[in-house]
Amino acid sequence: MQKHRLKLFMTTSVSRFNYQERVGEFQTKLRDYERRMNISSPVNLSFIEFHESACAQLLNKSICLPSWFLFKYEDIPERFRIRDMSDPRFNDSRFLNEVAGWMNEKIAELGLTTICRPADREILKNFIYILRDPSLFEKGKDFIIGHELAHLAHFQEGLAIKLYDSIALGGIMAAFFLLFLTVSMAPIVHLGITVGVCGIAIAMTVGGICGSLAHQRHAALSMIEEEKKADLDAVKMLNDAKGGIYYFQSSIDRHLALRRSSFAAQRDIDERGNNLKDKHHPPLTDRVAYLTQWQRETLRGLG
Ligand SMILES: [Zn+2]
Repeated sequence: MQKHRLKLFMTTSVSRFNYQERVGEFQTKLRDYERRMNISSPVNLSFIEFHESACAQLLNKSICLPSWFLFKYEDIPERFRIRDMSDPRFNDSRFLNEVAGWMNEKIAELGLTTICRPADREILKNFIYILRDPSLFEKGKDFIIGHELAHLAHFQEGLAIKLYDSIALGGIMAAFFLLFLTVSMAPIVHLGITVGVCGIAIAMTVGGICGSLAHQRHAALSMIEEEKKADLDAVKMLNDAKGGIYYFQSSIDRHLALRRSSFAAQRDIDERGNNLKDKHHPPLTDRVAYLTQWQRETLRGLG
């Protein structure tokens, strides 16, 4: 689905954080990550609604980040910082309205038209919760950027595979033609030449078919496998899985808190904190498990 692009414009008001500066920081980071992931041309960046999830637009070669990505830990006033999921303020609508009001003011100062609406309270709680650790908050965002870029890198690889397959198919057709031509000319040309050309044609055909099949097997990843691959490629690029583990574990904690407080939520969230409605990503507990394993193995390799 095409995501709604937000109209971005600069305002004359002076804010503590300048929109252009923030976007500039993201772009510098993007250029660095693109280089590390072998992405051939610059990726575009756009900011989407507060409640939307980060995404990659493959055909436009762009990544979209929700507007809360623009905030840094130090932007958020001390009175809005909560470190514990059991803090009663997480369920205090007056407190949440105050945070949302403050954020909307700042978002407007940045010149963005997105707002945090009352319907976005769960996203707001997620934001407040992941903000509890300044370093991991930034690492979590970096992981998400890496994950979305990995989708673009895989798409780029997919195009290269399609090109390879077209060449392989062309090779197979040419080989058959050569075979046909040589066999039909067998009475005229020397037997040695006929056998030699037949051999080349057969080798071309077999090579083309094998190469094409191998690439197709590689390309045919399911949506869940693609998400897992994007997670793992992001941590490889960052050489650190802590941000991903932190981000997914925070979602699990929040889901479990929601499950405890709402009977209706028990239908959509399992007892381990996985979102049962999400059929497109691996379960959160699996994502934490394989990223934790990656981190352990990488640290062992370094040690
Ligand atoms: Zn993804």
